[in-house]
Amino acid sequence: MSIIKLSNQDLIQTKLFINGEWVSGSTNQEFPVLDPSTNQELLKVSIANEDDYNNAIDIAYDTFQSFKKTNPRDRSNMLNKLYHSMINHKEDLAKILCHENGKPYNECIGEITSAASFFQWYAEEAPRMYGDVIQSGISNKKILTLRQPIGVVGILTPWNFPAAMITRKLGAALAAGCTSIIKPASATPLTASAIAYLGHTEAGIPKGVVNVLPTNSSSKIGKLVCEHPKIKKISFTGSTGVGKTLQSHAASTLKKASFELGGNAPFIVFQDADLDKALEGLKICKFRQSGQTCVCANRIFVHESIYDEFLSKALEIVKGFKLGKGYDSDTTHGPLINKAAVQKMDELVKDAVSKGAKIEIGGSPITQGPLSSGNFFQPTILTNLKENMDIWEEEIFGPIAPFIPFSSEEQVINWNNKIDVGLAGYYYTQDINKLFKISEDLEIGMIGINTGALSEAALPFGGVKKSGFGREGSKYGIEDYTVIKSLVLG
Ligand code: NAP
Repeated sequence: MSIIKLSNQDLIQTKLFINGEWVSGSTNQEFPVLDPSTNQELLKVSIANEDDYNNAIDIAYDTFQSFKKTNPRDRSNMLNKLYHSMINHKEDLAKILCHENGKPYNECIGEITSAASFFQWYAEEAPRMYGDVIQSGISNKKILTLRQPIGVVGILTPWNFPAAMITRKLGAALAAGCTSIIKPASATPLTASAIAYLGHTEAGIPKGVVNVLPTNSSSKIGKLVCEHPKIKKISFTGSTGVGKTLQSHAASTLKKASFELGGNAPFIVFQDADLDKALEGLKICKFRQSGQTCVCANRIFVHESIYDEFLSKALEIVKGFKLGKGYDSDTTHGPLINKAAVQKMDELVKDAVSKGAKIEIGGSPITQGPLSSGNFFQPTILTNLKENMDIWEEEIFGPIAPFIPFSSEEQVINWNNKIDVGLAGYYYTQDINKLFKISEDLEIGMIGINTGALSEAALPFGGVKKSGFGREGSKYGIEDYTVIKSLVLG
């Protein structure tokens, strides 16, 4: 019996979704899904092993032969229905997300709405797959290009956005006419299954097109998906380390891949910035979801002339946060995903302090009272940072904001570009002349200028350097799920 109470209890599915049916894994074993706010077990979910994956991949491959021929307008209608269905069930979906991920309920509503918008976006993209007619450069021949769906797609996703990380891949795959095998993160499989349930029962997605197989054997299954000859593309969102491993597996079949990996976003406040706007941006992009987003600000660089003022105002903001369980209505900031994440925060702070950093606020795990599950860490601001501290280069992925004063544009750009990842970054200035210069100089895939929030379906989302490659959303997102076929007409 589930402890998550919903209007439609059928949205909680704990089995594997293969070929339009909910089935137990072939070993009949299960793994627990925990509530990060309490570390209590929410319920158990079936484990998919290699046999289950091989079976589902065969089904997705066979289904692709007919699904690729469906009318784009029909696929568009399915996507639109799924968009409306998610919006109609957003409170239930947000409750599931909130329980398995821990983020505050309002942020869960925000994620479900944003996740659904990718289906809406790709419903609009599905009928707009254009080819070209090209005049040969050396004869009177004509060259024509067709865009065709690539085939079965393997979708591998992290726990921090259990809905959106799936929909921004699945929306593009469905629009293009691909079938899919989805491996959700083991910490958050329930949201993925709820979306598959709605796709099947309310949006009319044919059986075998979307298959969701939770598992706790991620490395074995990741290898299988990357090496399987019937899977033609993988789309992975997660850490840079796992991305590298998966790319080496995918090399065996020379699979098309897109990788959305870790970041280390600079948050730069120039001397002419609108400070109130910058503080609002900092609140969102450093502390949203307790710092556990790939586009979260990692290091806060503030021009030395406004540093003291900005720091003292930022401290006031952090003092106003209310740490709590995601589903408690006054919570502004929830737990981290697990104890290992808290331990990482503790180690980063201890390393920095041992090398001279100062804790301005926070700095510790919560060990007493109702939030002593082991998963809570105080929102923290550190100052006196130095380049030999681990926190200078590591992706923090938690609620710690290191504040660093800078004196010149060159210095701050150099500090950013020395880092080997480049996903998101932010800067605040009112000087329009800086816009192209700074944007072009920063080695980053996505830049927020005078805003701390950039993600939406219209944005080409993706990074440079070791933050990966490929773009999700926008008019480019569907391209990764297609191949161009060229015809020469003599
Ligand atoms: P992760 O450990 O790399 O896990 C991501 C996915 O890979 C999960 O499904 C995980 O399964 C699976 N996995 C883990 N180890 C694997 C292995 N050895 N072989 C194959 N699959 C494996 O990342 P995470 O901790 O969940 O997420 C945080 C990271 O994701 C951060 O670095 C963040 O920046 C990045 N991220 C990037 C974006 C982006 O768009 N660029 C968006 C969100 C997050 P299990 O859950 O079963 O371990």
